[in-house]
Amino acid sequence: MIYRRLGKSGLKVPAISIGLYHNFGDVNDYQHSKDIVLKAFNRGITHFDLANNYGPPPGSAEKNFGRLMKDELTAHRDQMLISTKAGYQMWDGPYGDGGSRKYLLSSLDQSLKRMNLDYVDIFYSHRYDAETPLEETAYALDSAVRQGKALYIGLSNYSGETTRRMADIFKEMRTPFVVNQPKYSLMERSPENSLFPVLQEKGLGSIVFQPLNQGLLTERYLARIPERSRVTNPAASLTEKDVTHEYLKQVRELKDLADKRGQSVAQLAISWVLRRQEVSSALIGVSNTQQLEENIEAIHMNSFEECEITALKQIFNR
Ligand code: NDP
Repeated sequence: MIYRRLGKSGLKVPAISIGLYHNFGDVNDYQHSKDIVLKAFNRGITHFDLANNYGPPPGSAEKNFGRLMKDELTAHRDQMLISTKAGYQMWDGPYGDGGSRKYLLSSLDQSLKRMNLDYVDIFYSHRYDAETPLEETAYALDSAVRQGKALYIGLSNYSGETTRRMADIFKEMRTPFVVNQPKYSLMERSPENSLFPVLQEKGLGSIVFQPLNQGLLTERYLARIPERSRVTNPAASLTEKDVTHEYLKQVRELKDLADKRGQSVAQLAISWVLRRQEVSSALIGVSNTQQLEENIEAIHMNSFEECEITALKQIFNR
C-alpha cells in the first residue's frame, strides 16, 4: 500500500480506503463481509469508512463492524483509521437528522456503542444543513474532539464555499479539521472547480467517494446486468435505467483506453482520481475480495499522458 498525507496534517491515509456503505448490513452474510475487511487490512488498507445510517437496516454496518472489531481486530486498533458520520435521517423525530449539536453528539455516542469503540479517528458532518448555523455544527464537532470521542474532524458533501467558512471557524477553535469527503469520479468532476482550490488554500486533504460511480466505471455491466449486482440491489440507488446505450458506448471506449494502459476499467477510474494531489485516498466499495485485489493494483499507475486526459474528456464531455 501507498500512504498519502491528508493535506498539511500529520495524518496519512492509504491511497485506497474501504467504505461499508453496501455489503456490510444485516442483509449481507457476516462471514463474507468479514473476509473483505480482513483481506483489505492484510493488504495495508488501514482506513475503514462508515456512517450511522449504513446498512440496511441503518446502523447495522456499524454493528457488524463492531462485532468484527471485537472478534478479530481489537489488538490492531492503533493500526486502523476508522471514521463515521452523522447528517442524514437516522431516527424519527426532530433530533435524528441534520447538523444540530443535539443530533451529532447523540449519534456519535450511538455509533461508538455499535462499533465497540472508545473513539473514532475521524468524525464527519455528513452533509451541509442549511437550517443549522455553521457555528453550531462546528462547535458540536469540536466538542466531540474535546470529549475524546474523535481524533480528527471531517466534512462531507460540503461545497467549496461552506468548507472555507467552516475551516475559518475551526481554525479559531484549533479544531483538528483535516479532510473533506466529496463525490469525485470521471463522471462527477465538479469538485475540481469548486472544492479543490479551497482544499489547496486551507491545507486540507480529501478522501473521495464513489470513484467507480457505484460500479458504472467498471466492466460490470458491459456484457449484461449480472443477477447479483448494485443495479439489481433494491436497497441501492443505481438502477437498470442507468445502464443506457450512451453509457455502454462510453464504457466500451473507456475499456479501449484502459487496455492500452494495461489496466482494467476499474483500475483506470481509480488511478484517474489518484492523479490529483488534492486527493489523498480513493474511497471504494467492493462486493467481494476479487474486486478488492483488482482495485488495489490501481495505486501503481497514477500518471496519465496528456493525450489520455484529452481522450477521457472526449468520452465523457460530449
Ligand atoms: P464505488 O464507486 O466504489 O462502487 C462500488 C461498487 O462497484 C461495488 O459494490 C461493486 O458493485 C462495484 N465494483 C467495485 N470494484 C469492482 C471491480 N473491480 N469490478 C466490477 N465491479 C466493481 O462506490 P460505493 O457506493 O460503494 O461507495 C464507496 C464508499 O464511499 C462507501 O462505502 C462509503 O464509505 C462512501 N460514500 C460516502 C458518501 C457520502 O455521502 N459521504 C456517499 C456514498 C458513499 P457490485 O455490488 O455490483 O459488485
